Amino acid sequence: MSAPHRVVVIGGGVAGLATGWLIDQQARQRGIQIALQVLEASAEPGGHTRTDVVDGFTCEWGSNGYLDNEPATLDLIDQLGMGDRVLAADQRAAKRFVYHSGQMHELPTKPGAFLLSDIVSVRDKARMALELAVPAKQDGLDETVYDFGRRRLGEGFADYLLDPMVSGIFAGNTRELSLAAVFPKMVALEQDYGGLFRALFAKGLQRLRGGGATGGGPAGPAGALHTFRDGMGELTTKLAVELGALLRTDAPVVSLGHDGGSFSVHLTGDTLEADAVVLACPAHAATDIVADLSGPTARALGEIPFAPVSVACQAIAVEQLARPLEGFGVLVPRSEGQRSLGTLCSDRIFTGQAPAGMRLLRTLVGGAHDPSVVQLSEAELLACVDADLDTLFGLRGRPQALRCYRHERAIAQYTVGHLDRVAVTERLEAELPRLSFTGASYRGVSVNACIKDAFRVADRVLAQLDGDTY
Ligand SMILES: Cc1cc2nc3c(=O)[nH]c(=O)nc-3n(C[C@H](O)[C@H](O)[C@H](O)COP(=O)(O)OP(=O)(O)OC[C@H]3O[C@@H](n4cnc5c(N)ncnc54)[C@H](O)[C@@H]3O)c2cc1C
Repeated sequence: MSAPHRVVVIGGGVAGLATGWLIDQQARQRGIQIALQVLEASAEPGGHTRTDVVDGFTCEWGSNGYLDNEPATLDLIDQLGMGDRVLAADQRAAKRFVYHSGQMHELPTKPGAFLLSDIVSVRDKARMALELAVPAKQDGLDETVYDFGRRRLGEGFADYLLDPMVSGIFAGNTRELSLAAVFPKMVALEQDYGGLFRALFAKGLQRLRGGGATGGGPAGPAGALHTFRDGMGELTTKLAVELGALLRTDAPVVSLGHDGGSFSVHLTGDTLEADAVVLACPAHAATDIVADLSGPTARALGEIPFAPVSVACQAIAVEQLARPLEGFGVLVPRSEGQRSLGTLCSDRIFTGQAPAGMRLLRTLVGGAHDPSVVQLSEAELLACVDADLDTLFGLRGRPQALRCYRHERAIAQYTVGHLDRVAVTERLEAELPRLSFTGASYRGVSVNACIKDAFRVADRVLAQLDGDTY
């Protein structure tokens, strides 16, 4: 019997855990002998997808949920036997708000409703309606998310609607993020239909005629938000438990070598030989790891910026809020002068995430616009969050701090040129087919995107080891 193929996955966040587990499962199913190791730098696995349950409050480190419109995630949940652990968001959470000019405004959920929204002025709405007359961009060059929003729908839309929505997902700066990398569907809609409203009408017509996808806006079916009964960390915990001894924590990888045949994975005080390696750690960590393998790749990885985010999870009795919000939460545009990007009412989104009568407020602070946020002490952070919460909800008492999470490099920023950087990693993958890059730094920051890519990479690794062409 030949020796098993040695596979090393670097990084024990949701991307690395899912990739490792899928490689192990699929190898068994395909009768491929492998010896797998998932190496995680810190003492606990999970990366940004972790949960602490504190006195009955579900505190999330990073992701607070996933949308059920990604078949790969549903498949993984099914394969893990976690179907009965899934928790859907409460219908009442459908309402989302933007705080603008000192007032709460309900955020439109359907593209057409933007025209009726009271967030932007009548003049801005008139400009939005002119989207129909804006010609499609022809030069094929990438542009920023802000430029796209302003070009098609006007400045009011870009400043007051697009900016806070994008901050809520990427904690990013719309004036730097690449449209092609962040919203590739928008580029396709403009190219295919000539504009967003045109795409909307055409797709509506297709539906009336009985074809095409159902639900959602021009970006496709929107999906419903879900988590697990013990929070998003339940997914990474389950993957870690399933991996068992195949997962090694406190195992930071320092560098990677390749001698023409196998890889040498260097840890502090230890070296592992591997036939295939998956880099599932963030790009800022991968840049050092691949420095000896490929200078150009290390440089491209080093050019992927990360936005810092601090998260404050706080508890307060509902009656201590003068204006309790009945909905998902509130986004705050930068023009309001707050450091908070927004606050989620976690117990309104997912029933059971706080004891009865209590509200769990989860405030995200910082982002690409405010890099110094991670320098705040916990007391400074909470003082700043409390002031913002008072403005938003009218506090009749001080919230109790449950947990604060400080992510110095929270979310990869797909700035203009991102797709070229990813292409550099793909060139190294083509040169060394048993090396793969995956995780939130490359093809999507969401948990869904990480899981979708985990399936792709698991398949790639096994196809390579099996001798198939990929
Ligand atoms: C505040 C916040 C809110 C978010 N909200 C949502 C949301 O609501 N929905 C959603 O879908 N997504 C959300 N996200 C994004 C999502 O959580 C992350 O993109 C996802 O968890 C990233 O997973 P990952 O495995 O790629 O990276 P990470 O979670 O960063 O994991 C990478 C792992 O690699 C390890 N590592 C680093 N260097 C090394 C090394 N040298 N050797 C070995 N291991 C190493 C790290 O310790 C870490 O555990 C949010 C993120 C943040 C920060």
